[in-house]
Amino acid sequence: MFPVNKKTNGKIKVHRKVRLGFLVGGLMLMVISANAQNEPFNVILQRVNNDLQTFVKDKALAEEVTSHLKNLNADGSWQDVNYTDAQYDPLKRIKDMATVYIRTSNKFYNNAELHSAIVKSLRNWLDKNPKNKNWWYNDIFYPQAIGQTLILMRSAKEGLPSELEKALIKRMIRKLKTGDGANTSDEALHYLYRACLTQNKATLDSAAKYLFEPIAITDGKEGVQVDGSYYQHGKQQAIASYGRVFTGNSVNAAFYLRGTAYALPKDQLAILVNYLKNTFLKTIRGSFYDFNVRGRGISRKDSLSSGMGGMVGKIKLFNPGNAAYWDASTLRTSGKKPVDYGITASHNQYWKSGYTLHLRPAYTFSVQTASTRTLRTERGNNENILGKFLPDGATNIQRSGSEYANLMPVWEWDKIPGTTSRDYPDDNGATVLKEWGIPGTTKFVGGVSDGIYGVSCYDLNYDSVQAKKAWFFFDREVVCLGAGIKSSTKENITTTVNQAWLRGDVLSPKGAHANAKGERWAVHDSIGYIFPQGGNLEISSKAQTGNWYRINHFQRKTELKHNVFKIWLNHGINPQNASYQYIVVPGINAAGLKKYNRSMIQILKNTDELQAVKHTGLDMLQAVFYKAGTLAANGLSLQVDQPCTVYIKDLNGKNPTLYIADPAQENATISVLLKLPGLSKPKSIDCNLSAGAFAGATASFKIKE
Ligand code: CA
Repeated sequence: MFPVNKKTNGKIKVHRKVRLGFLVGGLMLMVISANAQNEPFNVILQRVNNDLQTFVKDKALAEEVTSHLKNLNADGSWQDVNYTDAQYDPLKRIKDMATVYIRTSNKFYNNAELHSAIVKSLRNWLDKNPKNKNWWYNDIFYPQAIGQTLILMRSAKEGLPSELEKALIKRMIRKLKTGDGANTSDEALHYLYRACLTQNKATLDSAAKYLFEPIAITDGKEGVQVDGSYYQHGKQQAIASYGRVFTGNSVNAAFYLRGTAYALPKDQLAILVNYLKNTFLKTIRGSFYDFNVRGRGISRKDSLSSGMGGMVGKIKLFNPGNAAYWDASTLRTSGKKPVDYGITASHNQYWKSGYTLHLRPAYTFSVQTASTRTLRTERGNNENILGKFLPDGATNIQRSGSEYANLMPVWEWDKIPGTTSRDYPDDNGATVLKEWGIPGTTKFVGGVSDGIYGVSCYDLNYDSVQAKKAWFFFDREVVCLGAGIKSSTKENITTTVNQAWLRGDVLSPKGAHANAKGERWAVHDSIGYIFPQGGNLEISSKAQTGNWYRINHFQRKTELKHNVFKIWLNHGINPQNASYQYIVVPGINAAGLKKYNRSMIQILKNTDELQAVKHTGLDMLQAVFYKAGTLAANGLSLQVDQPCTVYIKDLNGKNPTLYIADPAQENATISVLLKLPGLSKPKSIDCNLSAGAFAGATASFKIKE
């Protein structure tokens, strides 16, 4: 029921009655204004109540509740719950009991025995007043779960004794920690529950304020950044870790408060919609997250399953203007439509977070890096114990979406896809030695983008390994270059191309069957890999063992064994100026790869000073200048007076476009001198770049004769 309609009806009624006389009209007005006061509270309670029941499966939940009832002690406690360290249980059990109790479709509907069990277990909770060592349970989960149970029971035929409800509402009261991003909105949610349960306008005012407080753009602080990425725990990319909590809470709040006087204001709605459309939903391929956006949550079971549930569907109700987009997202992420449904080509360079996201209908390819401006992927609370190399140029390559889902317990953690690192004899070498974020070590980290294509670079200097790494993004392929690879450690230095679920055959001819020029290639799971200069290529396709506990101490120790496809280049021990080049071609089989026109990709330079690739098919040039210098190759010359990343579109046309960015985010102006085949004379451009929060962003220049 929409409150707007109710209000309209009410007003019409009032007008009619008013004509009948002052007294009658006055009485009606009093009734209406009392209703209007109750209205947002009851409307919101009803929406929360419905929301809590959206995905309930009656039979399965009844079975769980049967077992909860059987194991419930006479005093309302459970034997198997440690009340000195209570986590989700027992409040989750009580909430489940309340859910089945109020559902007419459930066999426990209005069940007297269940009602007394709910009352008993709530009284027991009240008396025990459990507290967890982790503040999150005390200040967020407990009051939220209590509020949800009370809201559910409000719709019961026989509700809770009012003194019990009052005492529990009092127990929900916490001091709000404001300005804490996702956590603030998490806390404000139980304020909303309490406000509606008590019909308290002042509480609702502050709940609405703090629920929506995080929907703002900040620079450098926790929350949504100017480039559309998300920070939490310092300057650390948290797009679908804490950003997922932010998104879920913001969507729920906007959904609950829609159409009321507390509805999400337009300017904030625009921020939320933009975050969802241009960042968050792009990180989900099919129903699986890019592993680069889950933060330390990568070490949790099922953490790549997006479980978008009904979230996207809710957005439609407060943002009908984008309905077609939300519908497509719902169908795609729920698996009802193919993974490419509604996907259009895009390329995002998140210069605040060192994250690049390249989307095509056929694939998703992302890169995560770290710089002196950001923090490396955190280990925290003994989660993500082995993720030391996660921000060192990790590449997430997805076709179906599930390529890495739940593979993390058996991953070899010094062979994270895309990274160049020491190859330790065991995974202890990949242990993150310090909890929470560690700053990156270099500043030349970033890239240039026109929104569809782009190039990214990473100056790697970590764990006694140095390399200049770059990624050139086109339509059918991504070209990956590495140069200046140096290390004096005793291990082999390797660049891992991929490490994913083994699915089907691995095809990779070698020896006499390999290309005469020394070129190598491989195909696995509809992704092709081309190594134009060969290299010491190693491929493994066998079972790997491990368990979740070794990467996350909250997880199980059960030993797992999974078949893994792993492909890497070995640069050997003590490399002093090693390099690599490989081209990833997603959405191809062996026959397709044979026909694939490799000559369109011209790798013009791959040194520790300059990496450049020309794509003749797309008529574009992309380059990373680690130093001021000149790129001269077949008829073109590109000179820059500062280190930068450059991309030129319509290279041979009459009106090429130059895109340029400074990955170090230091220079205000970069001078470029261009000699192009389509231009009758050299062109000199002083490229003014943005400063402040937009330092690192791309500037573009249309080149005219
Ligand atoms: Ca190893």
